[in-house]
Parts: sequence; structure tokens; C-alpha cells
Amino acid sequence: MAKRFNARALKKHHSYTIAEAAEQLGAHPQTVRAWIRNGLPVLAEKTPHLILGDHIQTFLKGDATRRRRPLGPDELYCLTCKGAKTPAGKMADFIEMAPARGRLTGICPDCEGMCNRFAVKSQLPAIAPNLIVDLRSAELSLKEPEKAA
Ligand SMILES: [Zn+2]
Repeated sequence: MAKRFNARALKKHHSYTIAEAAEQLGAHPQTVRAWIRNGLPVLAEKTPHLILGDHIQTFLKGDATRRRRPLGPDELYCLTCKGAKTPAGKMADFIEMAPARGRLTGICPDCEGMCNRFAVKSQLPAIAPNLIVDLRSAELSLKEPEKAA
């Protein structure tokens, strides 16, 4: 059986670092990182990643389903629909968040919300073989005052 985490220990509107979320939940930080790879959204394209308590609770509620059905090619995760979706128009943006790593985002065809997936840039041809992926370089965010360490 999958381990249950105490999601109610989290405050809905508080944002947590990976370490803080892991501590609150009684989970290993690697487990939280795995959730992010599997579609748990983070708040901004910077490190350390911040995760909204509400998103973790929603993600964990859908976790049992997701475990049975990992994301396939061309699929992103829609937090609203709690499921794997091929983005509308088969279009996605790849937002580079760290060298060679980033987030694929697209529009959910069902709820028109954002769907997401973490991806390694070099694996994009395997992850999204049929999507039109717009690469958004990390340089775009360099005009912001803070830089990733
Ligand atoms: Zn949706």
C-alpha cells in the first residue's frame, strides 16, 4: 500500500520549500521532489522551489490515481482535472528553470487551466514527440533582479 502523508498538517495558503513540506508531511525530501517531477506545481521559476500547501493537498488526493497511470508521451498533468491531458492544440511551452531542466506547460483542453510537467530538456523529444514546444530560454528572466545562485 502507498504510504499516507499527513496533508492536513499543511496550511492551504502557505508556501513551503521542499524541505519544509517534507518535514510537515513526514515524507522524505526525495519523495517531494518526485511529486514535482510528476506534476506537483511549484510557485515560481526560481530556486528554492516553493510549493503551495493547497497544491500539495490536491496533489496527494489524486496521487493514488496517478500512481496507476503515469504520464505518457505528450501528456501534462492538470491539477484541476486531476489527470493526464494532452494540451490544447498540442502546444506547450518549455520554461527553462535550471540548466537543461524546466517545466512544460500547456492549456488543459477540458478546463482551460494550466497543465504542467517537469522535464529534462534533452528528453523533450521522448516526452513530447508530437507537441509543438515553444522553448523559452532562461535568459528571459535575467532582467529580474534576483538570479539563481
Ligand atoms: Zn483540466
